[in-house]
Amino acid sequence: MSFERVAIVGLGLIGGSIGLAVREHLPGVTTRGYDLDPAVRRRAAERRLADNICETAEEAAADADLVILCVPVGAMGAAARAVLPALKADTVVSDVGSSKQAIGEALSAALPDHAVIPAHPVAGTENSGPDAGFATLFHRRWCIVTPPADAAPEQVTALVEFWQGLGAMVDTMDPQHHDRVLAVTSHIPHLIAYTIVGTASDLEEVTRGEVIKYSAGGFRDFTRIAASDPTMWRDVFLHNRDAVLEMLDRFLTDLAMMREAIRAGDGETMFDLFSRTREIRRSIVEMGQDDARPDFGRKHNGDS
Ligand code: NAP
Repeated sequence: MSFERVAIVGLGLIGGSIGLAVREHLPGVTTRGYDLDPAVRRRAAERRLADNICETAEEAAADADLVILCVPVGAMGAAARAVLPALKADTVVSDVGSSKQAIGEALSAALPDHAVIPAHPVAGTENSGPDAGFATLFHRRWCIVTPPADAAPEQVTALVEFWQGLGAMVDTMDPQHHDRVLAVTSHIPHLIAYTIVGTASDLEEVTRGEVIKYSAGGFRDFTRIAASDPTMWRDVFLHNRDAVLEMLDRFLTDLAMMREAIRAGDGETMFDLFSRTREIRRSIVEMGQDDARPDFGRKHNGDS
């Protein structure tokens, strides 16, 4: 089986990118889109984020083989309930939310008689809204599919092939494992970025703008992450609480160890950690997950 009619609910960065990517890569597939916000629907129509922009979630989902919910994590249950009356018996409902266990439970509770196969494209930017999407967002990025134990294999395969069609590489795993992995690779880094930028802004009076003036020393790389959408990230922390707290405890233990190394003048401990982390950066670049050029390929004064 494969999906020919896809409904996209939520037309921001991720939903908009899916619509554009389907048009570019899957010419036989038609899309209908819906967003709760009328201004977003208007902009989505101007940018042609989906073939048809609908006035209700039901209209978008009518006749769809696949419905993808691309709304904030906390809105997944409401979005699922809104499409429910339009679903066919064999419609597959998926999502793109950044945490998986809580969303899987919310979707199964809202749609007890339908096939729910959650997924999470590990791709994004700090921008949100209908102007943020682009067709190549998923190219060579991972998408993690978290099928429930009783999911029909042919439906899981169809969803995997859909994401591969958009240029993504796909892994499947159970939702608890997803949430622990992403707590380390995404959620805690965002928490650290939000916190350090907040701390620096609290100190602004002391430093009189020097935080911004000298930000190229490292601080500005945190500000990119800390500019991410507040609604999305509030919801991620509300819905992946256990895994985040577990990883946060591990991080705080390691941070305390580094604090002790600095206090004790233990250069060897610092050097060992900083050498290990450099290797991780090399592996990320080697796997094509980031730009190999110095300073992420940013232009500097005098560059053309
Ligand atoms: P976004 O740009 O803010 O887009 C979400 C859109 O959904 C907004 O226009 C929002 O409208 C709309 N919406 C909210 N509730 C709705 C509902 N019940 N029905 C229809 N539309 C609704 O957010 P995004 O970055 O695309 O994120 C969407 C999802 O993708 C989130 O679950 C997030 O965890 C996941 N994700 C994000 C990233 C990333 O880097 N951004 C990466 C991977 C996965 P309002 O603004 O009016 O609420």
